[in-house]
Formats: sequence, C-alpha cells, structure tokens
Amino acid sequence: MFGTAFAQDAEKPRYTNDEGEEVFGPDYMPRSPDDVGVPLYMGRPNAGFRIPDSMLVIPQDVFRNSTIQGSLPLDAVPRQLPDDVPYLKDFRERFNTTPLKFNNLVPNNTIGPSATMKVHYVDVGQGAGAIIELPCGVAVIDLGGEWVGGNGGKVFVQYLEAFLAARPHYNHTVNVVIVSHPHADHLKGTKSLMDTNIRVLGVVDNGQTGDEGSLLTQTTFREWVEQGVPKRYSAIEVPRQVTATGVTNSVIDPFVCADVTAFWGGNNDNASKKPYDNPNNHSVVVRIDFGEASFMFMGDLELEASHDMFKQYDLNPKVFDADVLLVPHHASENATNDDLIGKITPEIAIIQMGSRTSEGAKDYSHPRGKVIALLQDQPEIVSDKRTDTPKFWAYPSGGAPLKEIQIKQAIYGTGWEGTIVVTATAKGTYQIESLGH
Ligand SMILES: [Zn+2]
Repeated sequence: MFGTAFAQDAEKPRYTNDEGEEVFGPDYMPRSPDDVGVPLYMGRPNAGFRIPDSMLVIPQDVFRNSTIQGSLPLDAVPRQLPDDVPYLKDFRERFNTTPLKFNNLVPNNTIGPSATMKVHYVDVGQGAGAIIELPCGVAVIDLGGEWVGGNGGKVFVQYLEAFLAARPHYNHTVNVVIVSHPHADHLKGTKSLMDTNIRVLGVVDNGQTGDEGSLLTQTTFREWVEQGVPKRYSAIEVPRQVTATGVTNSVIDPFVCADVTAFWGGNNDNASKKPYDNPNNHSVVVRIDFGEASFMFMGDLELEASHDMFKQYDLNPKVFDADVLLVPHHASENATNDDLIGKITPEIAIIQMGSRTSEGAKDYSHPRGKVIALLQDQPEIVSDKRTDTPKFWAYPSGGAPLKEIQIKQAIYGTGWEGTIVVTATAKGTYQIESLGH
C-alpha cells in the first residue's frame, strides 16, 4: 500500500556523501558504548604481562578531564608529561614478568633475530583486511570489503579459515580483531566471521555505537565477542591530549612476542561536523613492532584527522616512523600528503583496493596516481625497490579513466596483484610475495 513507511534497509546507509560513502547525519550519529572496556594505558605497561596497577604508567583516564570539544585547536595547551615516561619498547624490559595465559597463546618472549612474522593483506576488492601471523598468536585488522559480484567480507573470512586450518597450532583462535572504523568495506566480514567456529579472544574498535547501518554492525560484532570472552573489549576513545607513545592494554596487545599500539580513535563530540561526519576520520590507527620490524595500519584516516593525530603526538613524532605502511584510505588523494609520508618514511607501501574492474574502486577512483607519485617519485619516500618494474594502473583524478603507471619502488597493491604477504624478520628485513587474483 502506498504511504506505508518502509523499514529502512539495514544494509543501505541512511546518509551518504557525494562519493557514496556512508556518513553520519541527524538521526545517524554515533553513541559511546555503555562500557568502554579495558582501560587504555600510555607508555608501555606492556600487554600480555601481568604488571601491578601501581606500576602502570599513566592511565588514559588522567586525561579525560582535558577533553576539548571538536578537533584539536592549534592553540591547545599540551598536558605536560612526567620526564620519565618511557618510549614504546623499553618499558617491558624493566620487568621480569610472567605472561598471562590466554588459552592458545604460545609464549615466545625470546624471539631471536631470525624469528619471522607475516602480514597477509588479503585481496577483498574495494576494502581492507589483514591477518597478522605471529609466532605467539594471530591478530586481524579489519575484515572488508566490497567485491563486484560478491562479498569481500566473506572472501576475507574464507581466507582466514583456510589460514587457520593450515596452522593447527593456533587452535582455530584469533587473539584480537581490531576494526578501524564502521564502514562496510572494513567490517563486512564480521557477519561471516560470526557464522564460523573461529574463536575470537578480544575485540578493539573506536567505540562508536548505534542501532543501524555500519554502527550496528560494529556494535553487534563487539557484543558477540564479549559473549564468548567477557571483559575482552577495548574502545579507542582517545580523548584530546598530548601523549608520547599511543595507547595499549592487554586486549589491544595480547602478545608476548610483539608490541601493538593504537592511536587516535572515536571522537563523538564532533561527528556532526565536516570532515568528522565521515567515519573515516575516526579510524583507529595501529602500529605493530616485531623486534626491529614495524608496520603501520592507518584505516581510512583523511588528512584533517591525521593532522590532528600527529599534533597530539608532537612530543614524540618518531612514534609514527615505520617500515611498512598500509597507505591510508586505499590511496585516495584526500589521505596522503608530504607531511604524512615524511613522518612514516616507509620502506614498503601496501595499497588495499579493488581491481581494475571493481566498480567500487572506480566509483571512488582508488588508487590515485598522485599518491603513487608522492610515494615513488623524487624524492623517493618509499625507499626499497621492487625487483621487477611492473606496469600497473591508477586514476589520474576523480571520475577519470584509469591510466597505466610504472611502479619502481616497493609499492604493492591488492587490486593489481591479489593478496600480498609480507614476511618480516625480527632483524627488520622483509620479503614480499603477491599471490595473484
Ligand atoms: Zn575504506
């Protein structure tokens, strides 16, 4: 009957921007979760270890009172940190601690220089999803995506199932799933994952909660994980502050052989204002250190938000210096500039994007030729070279037809060459393998 109110299709975003991305709007705004989960800590009270509370360095709550509405103003007075806040990795070494036993965790806190880990950047079409394969466990960062004629989220979960089946020592268990932000191309796979018998021992997201759209998908997944393992949730709702090292806790970093650190996070105060009405700009950013090897995962953070994030870590900009960069926002033009790549100075850059025939990649014109030029033209920011010099493609501008582009430096794209597996040694050497479409 005409005039009947149709139920909102839960799959269809209520609000989209000009590019077709799901954005917040008057009746689609993120809430904070009732329980933000395990407290975040600055410094390195490192996770995976039981350290007395009195020895933990500055809980995040100390800074809650200094929350400033909206984006960090340039004249914000930084909170002074004590002089002895340790930087990243040094802290753990001061303690003779006992690893917490998380079911299947294989303690391995004496990794030698030849120990290896892998990151699988899975080809999920337009979207992102990575599996972190460590000697002491498994992490997942995002589980996209969209796929022309299919569901990239399902593709990701199928890859994960095959991965775990081939590695029985992980006991069908993922130690932590980190969701960067509530957009389908980063969390569509949560639905498929909930239908498997894979155990998930922890979940991290930006805390944004809602009853509809991708906010609901994120909320549902978090609740599903918590049903199985209570008190293994952590919201990266990082309030306005100046820190030296990012945040962590035993959910974000359940590993004894690697360090996992989170940056940025949800900021619901400004979600009604551009550009923060786009969930991209609330992406959780993740850093993984394995011995001397380091990886940065940027989610879809755009330039305004990454500028704000860098500003918060002015005391220690080196905290972003990493070897392998997952290029933010599928190498969109609005997410990479000189400042960002100058802070990270990657040796290797990975782009997760749709293939040549992907409608999603075409709609957003990902990846952009300009971003690839920033990464590899003089001065070459991506410092490693490929052993081959393949001709791939990129979009010169929004809506323009794609154009051939020669790749000289160590830049790899899932849309170009399928799933990419980076093997790293604890000495900080890398090997890259492309699995093809
Ligand atoms: Zn995305």
